Amino acid sequence: MVNRVLEAIGSTERHCSIAEIQHALVGGLKVQDLTAAYLGAIHASDLNAFITICDERAMQQARDADRLIAALGAQAFVSRPLLGIPIGVKDNIAIAGVLMTCASKMLENYVPPYTATAIKRLEDAGAIVLGKLNMDEFAMGGSGENSAYGLTRHPVDKTLVPGGSSSGSAAAVRGGLCVAALGTDTGGSIRLPASFCGIHAIKPTYGTVSRFGLVAFASTLDQIGPMTRSLVDAELMLGVMSGRDQSDMTSIDYTYEPIPEPDFSKLRIGVPEEYFGLMPDIEAKVLDAMAWFESKGAQVQRVSLPHCHAAIAVYYLVAVAEASSNLARFDGVRFGSRLDGVFEGARALFGPEVKRRIILGTFALSARGTTSYYKQANYVRAQIREDFERVFQQVDLIIGPVTPTGAYKIGAQMSDPLQMYLNDFYTIPANLAGIPALSVPAGKVGELDVGLQVMAPWRQDALAVAAARVFDKEFLHGRI
Ligand code: GLN
Repeated sequence: MVNRVLEAIGSTERHCSIAEIQHALVGGLKVQDLTAAYLGAIHASDLNAFITICDERAMQQARDADRLIAALGAQAFVSRPLLGIPIGVKDNIAIAGVLMTCASKMLENYVPPYTATAIKRLEDAGAIVLGKLNMDEFAMGGSGENSAYGLTRHPVDKTLVPGGSSSGSAAAVRGGLCVAALGTDTGGSIRLPASFCGIHAIKPTYGTVSRFGLVAFASTLDQIGPMTRSLVDAELMLGVMSGRDQSDMTSIDYTYEPIPEPDFSKLRIGVPEEYFGLMPDIEAKVLDAMAWFESKGAQVQRVSLPHCHAAIAVYYLVAVAEASSNLARFDGVRFGSRLDGVFEGARALFGPEVKRRIILGTFALSARGTTSYYKQANYVRAQIREDFERVFQQVDLIIGPVTPTGAYKIGAQMSDPLQMYLNDFYTIPANLAGIPALSVPAGKVGELDVGLQVMAPWRQDALAVAAARVFDKEFLHGRI
């Protein structure tokens, strides 16, 4: 077992679950050796998945974990379900005393004085933080190329993007540089890179994980979620992180708990007709998944989300409007650095995509923009939410693609922001409606990994995951 755990480090193909690793830890593997091996793999890696590596802090946590295990044995894991598990954290989530850049020059020297609630809960449960992960600047982007600290590479084929904006999170998990990672999802940034990198990820119901300590991009859409090599591991992380937090008034009173596999003969699955007739390769995967759900006895039916065609337009108004307001605090006085002697002053340190969003958002919130665009966007957002409410009276879950294509070549979409925005077509609706959505590996299109998206009604995260667990176990066997 110890060998299997160590062989997974730095590997894109092998992996061990949290339970297997903890089994090895009870059996004598030292958390310090495990942590040191992961840190070694991170230093040796050329993926550029990490912006900050927390060598000393992680080794201190590992020593503390070893001491606990020596004193309490297996008992140490009972109240600390993540004891000894090395994780990575997207660099827009604060840890007191650890540099947090949001992949921006603006925050090149920013060390937060406080820790995000999600991190506090993970560390209280025994997790070891290896470092802060690369991302698109301020989580704006879909490829991982918009980082002031250099792009992240896809671990399986280094000429490809890993997807974004949680690019470092997906690359590190698939590349065997951490057991699990945190990502954030405003319009798809957990699910899209998970799909590109062939890993598992959950964007929970809005409010499930506290946003306290997460740098706000678009506050009504942002959610933190786990990215892992198995759904069981993601569930464990989510169980620890979720639940009401006094420091975030939008957090909800919902603690994630896994449920057993559903009775498929009672399960009704919807497939939105608007998701078809666009991308044949990806749609073929969804048709295969549909057939699998039917073979399990589920009732699969076509449903309609008539307003989803407007989701991208709505998102790129709501998100930029909220971003322009949220990013106003980075003025070089309250937060961020100032580039003196430059005409643009404080804002000069933002990258081009962030500037584009601030300009668009400022217009959307101007007197003319508010009535012509922003209010209308919110009106259509309400209709998208109603579409889901209506469909979820007919079905228990909705399945569909995560992304229109698999991972693409580095540089292929950088000159065309609109093309990049279109990649969010399948993921954005769940953010606008606040509902849970996950990405589970569904095989390959050509050489490229792609995920299946499973969406559920508000707070029904566990149902989506339970169905996807069975899919995960059975679908790929014999089919691919
Ligand atoms: N790609 C989307 C954007 O650029 C989503 C980003 C996100 O979810 N953080 O806004």
